[in-house]
Amino acid sequence: MGLTKIIATVGPASCSTSVLRSIIGEGVDVIRLNFSHGSHDDHEKMYKKVRDVASQTGKYIGIMQDISGPKIRIGEIKTSPLILDEGDELIMTCDENADGSGNRVFVSCPGFSNEVKKGDRIFLADGLLEVEVKDSSNGEVKAEVIDGGELTSKKGVNLPMTKLSLPSLTEKDKIDVEFGLRLGVDMMALSFVRDPKDIEQFRDFMKKSGRIVPIIAKIEKPEAIEKIDAIIEIADGVMIARGDLAIEIPLQKVPAIQKEIIKKARRAHRPVIVATQMLESMIVEERPTRAEVTDVASAVFDGAGAVMLSGETAIGKHPQKVVKLMEDIISEAEKTAYSPTGDLAIYNDFNVEFSVATSAVTMANTLNAKAVFALTLSGRSAELLSCQRPSLPIIAFSPSDDTLKKLSLYFGVYPVGVVFHDRFSDILKECVRRAKEENFVRSGDYVIVTAGYPFEEKVQTNLVHALMIP
Ligand code: PEP
Repeated sequence: MGLTKIIATVGPASCSTSVLRSIIGEGVDVIRLNFSHGSHDDHEKMYKKVRDVASQTGKYIGIMQDISGPKIRIGEIKTSPLILDEGDELIMTCDENADGSGNRVFVSCPGFSNEVKKGDRIFLADGLLEVEVKDSSNGEVKAEVIDGGELTSKKGVNLPMTKLSLPSLTEKDKIDVEFGLRLGVDMMALSFVRDPKDIEQFRDFMKKSGRIVPIIAKIEKPEAIEKIDAIIEIADGVMIARGDLAIEIPLQKVPAIQKEIIKKARRAHRPVIVATQMLESMIVEERPTRAEVTDVASAVFDGAGAVMLSGETAIGKHPQKVVKLMEDIISEAEKTAYSPTGDLAIYNDFNVEFSVATSAVTMANTLNAKAVFALTLSGRSAELLSCQRPSLPIIAFSPSDDTLKKLSLYFGVYPVGVVFHDRFSDILKECVRRAKEENFVRSGDYVIVTAGYPFEEKVQTNLVHALMIP
């Protein structure tokens, strides 16, 4: 299996236990529950099934709750689709009765007419339709259709030229977050992050709700690109959400921004996910386009820690096949993307934990070691090893379930649950036994162990140890 992690969005195409088992078997590491769709009941059923399948396979599968955030949508269209031709007028209103009749549609943004001004461009339905604001007054926005097409119910609305004053967490989001935390999700992805404060407020909200999980900031707004360093610093990870991003900024800018964000996230030791339309044509087709294959491989070459499937596994015809194909593309790309030494060029910090991580990778290379064993409580040492992208597995041994599930998202990290006995030698014996059982190592192989010494004092990672497997 490859080192780059795979996130699969689940939905109607993957809600059965058998499909879940097959996609996890083919290499899915993290399951994404998309709260822009589905009821709490649907998500709860899915959550339980994922946990059941994961415990049967013995794999630590992270569950990511994706929060809609201030995504604006139009309402129901009564006579769907509403055909809009170039030059037509479209009226956008907060009147919930607007159902498309007379080209009047509801928009889920309180005070919409105050948010936009004459001349602003508005994109609808994933950017397929474009309108220009001609007038915004009396609670209604009158716009002229620039690029026409068919508009159907609940389609997304993007306003790249407008700095919206909407809160980063809507009332629906708050209910969803409390629900997800109660359920036990392992991480949250927050949509439409505009400012580092959005992350802070989100974390505060979780704190008040009684449980904090890692936050993945979805980068899909121009404001987020402007403040990317501070957002990476404060978030626990980032997702390059190319679906909305390519509407909010000129789409030709997305590839370079992808490379830049990956580099910055690695430097800050944050997991980084490339998302959306990676193998899109496989929603219907049996085989991807050549361009899609290259897109997945390019994400690996760029140094992404994880790649994500959306519609491909949520509503697509071939969920198992698409995951297998993604895994095959990743494994092939990694043959040339990484060397055992990893990429130390990313290093920018000088402290004990860093020096342990770099030394471990150097020693692993010198001894042709088969794995690094990271004995970790918080997961920190595994994070520092992962950001170097060495081409050998980092086996994270931890007694903490939260740590292990969090690490499911980190490049190259295989989480394994162990009890931490008091004596280092006893723990090591257990680690060796488990690594042999999982076929990572055989007698005579070298592994490099990182840990905190003296072990019983639970100090930060400060030890590198070369071990020949007995
Ligand atoms: C995206 O826009 O690329 C994305 C991942 O977000 P969503 O699927 O919620 O639109």
